[in-house]
Amino acid sequence: MTGLVCPRCRNQFASTTMIWRCPCGSLLDVSHAAMFPIEAIVQRPMTMWRYREALPLNNTALIVSLGEPMTPIIEVQLRNGLVRIKQEQLMPTGSFKDRGSAVMISHLRAIGITSVVEDSSGNAGASIAAYCANAGIECHIFVPEATSPSKLKQIQCMGARLVKIPGNRMDTAEAAWKMAERIYYASHYANPFFIHGIKTLAFEIWEQSGWDVPDAIVLPVGNGSLLLGVAQGFSDLLNAGSISRLPRLIAVQAAQCSPIYHAWNQLTDRSQIEHSRKTIAEGIAISQPLCQEKIIQVLRIFQGDCISVSDEEITDALRFCHRAGFYIEPTAAVSIAGITKLGNLDPYGRVVTVFSGHGLKSVESSNYSP
Ligand SMILES: *Cc1c(COP(=O)(O)O)cnc(C)c1O
Ligand SMILES: [Zn+2]
Repeated sequence: MTGLVCPRCRNQFASTTMIWRCPCGSLLDVSHAAMFPIEAIVQRPMTMWRYREALPLNNTALIVSLGEPMTPIIEVQLRNGLVRIKQEQLMPTGSFKDRGSAVMISHLRAIGITSVVEDSSGNAGASIAAYCANAGIECHIFVPEATSPSKLKQIQCMGARLVKIPGNRMDTAEAAWKMAERIYYASHYANPFFIHGIKTLAFEIWEQSGWDVPDAIVLPVGNGSLLLGVAQGFSDLLNAGSISRLPRLIAVQAAQCSPIYHAWNQLTDRSQIEHSRKTIAEGIAISQPLCQEKIIQVLRIFQGDCISVSDEEITDALRFCHRAGFYIEPTAAVSIAGITKLGNLDPYGRVVTVFSGHGLKSVESSNYSP
């Protein structure tokens, strides 16, 4: 049986535990040694479950799945160079979050959880609501009042109990943590099973790069579920001896709300952080990410960097993607804006990024003048 372990004080917990933080305050991790038997993997269907020996689930015959495909990775010519973009908007609920939900909800159904709570700015909520609906688990999704109407609709249609919280994203998180004192906290950034689902994105990038590692991966960052998941995936591959080096990870934040950018670059103007302004990139508008320390640590290990982009640069990138035929949501254009900002891409080598969310999710917020 896989257990949970505190990375700070090494305290251990059963994987059925209801607590989501160690008494020492740290978030928990799953203890699990991932394996990658390539000969077996290549004979299985083209879904994230082909890497089952790398997932912390005891019985993958009992998984909760909505048919997660191995998403295509497409070469796109940007103004400053050629990049490969993984089409995560093609996941069942329209974002990469489905990888995390599928693994986390599979685990929760296996251990008999019947009710969960989650806080989200939209996509994680919609994804967890979908997998809970499929698994017959009751779910409470807390969202900031200002979330895109189509994301709210998506959450409600799947039968989740939607709780709109006035104020910012932090107020929403705190309201959910209160409820998490009595209901299982199925968090997309605090629950290690979720992060261990997101890591399949790294495995697919590895396979789609000819079982090799790209030089740099550029990712939008808010709470860090995407970055931490991808980092977990490449760390697993390295620990298993399946790769011999790590890619660089480059995080991109919206300048309007950029605590990680400030921490990484040791900027002292905290007003920027404490009074985060509204941004078109609603999916990553997190002013106090719980995993900030871990994100900074990961950026160090992966020889990373963190840059920020203005709403104007995001809108430019969004327009560019739309005009190239990729209907993505504004938050998904953040990484493209970031890559554009890197300038000449030659020193970065082979660059990979993802389209993190589908445009149909937030039609109202894409109403720039096209
Ligand atoms: C969740 C999400 C991200 C990444 O946000 P994290 O909070 O860092 O995981 C990026 N883009 C979209 C569209 C998202 O839904
Ligand atoms: Zn601890």
